[in-house]
Amino acid sequence: MASESAKGSKQPQFQKERVQRLIAELIEALGEDPKREGLKMTPYRVAEMFEELLSGTNQPSASFLGSMFPAGHEEMVILRDISFFSMCEHHLLPFFGDVHVAYIPNESGHIAGLSGIAKLVDGVSKRLQVQERFTTEIANAIQVSMKPKGVLVVVEAEHLCMSMRGSKKVGARAMTSAVRGAFQKDGITRAEALELIRKGRDAAR
Ligand code: ZN
Repeated sequence: MASESAKGSKQPQFQKERVQRLIAELIEALGEDPKREGLKMTPYRVAEMFEELLSGTNQPSASFLGSMFPAGHEEMVILRDISFFSMCEHHLLPFFGDVHVAYIPNESGHIAGLSGIAKLVDGVSKRLQVQERFTTEIANAIQVSMKPKGVLVVVEAEHLCMSMRGSKKVGARAMTSAVRGAFQKDGITRAEALELIRKGRDAAR
């Protein structure tokens, strides 16, 4: 994984007209007629869609967190069931599910609002992703911006590249986690966070 600061200044841009041309070419290469009625507007629609779905590309993850507030306390904060949709970079098919975030603020530090964490999840999801990197990018952005005593991120997701093709495991959810700081060092604190996340999940079913 290349670090965001190491990408340099020459960042590739989203080239909407080029995407449209290439989608038309793809449709043709798939053995279809891009000029037929139902497909005529498809390159335009797909380019619009990708522009929206991949709008987090080349943006620094921490920028999604928005403004920060003084923390004022050092108790654990848990945000559960932040829903997301992202795009698997191996197949260009969606994967989607829920993100759970736990962190322990550093009293002298600053924290993002709850909507800031949700915006972070949203921004980082709008890139070509794999679930493992999605998980660590969320944890790292929180770690770097809020410098909490610890952060734990759990992601559970269904991948359409597994559900509708290949192994066709409908409803199977992949779980990934990233732990930093106190959650890494202290098994009791980690267990407490995971228990709170699981309780909420079970209650919602
Ligand atoms: Zn995939």
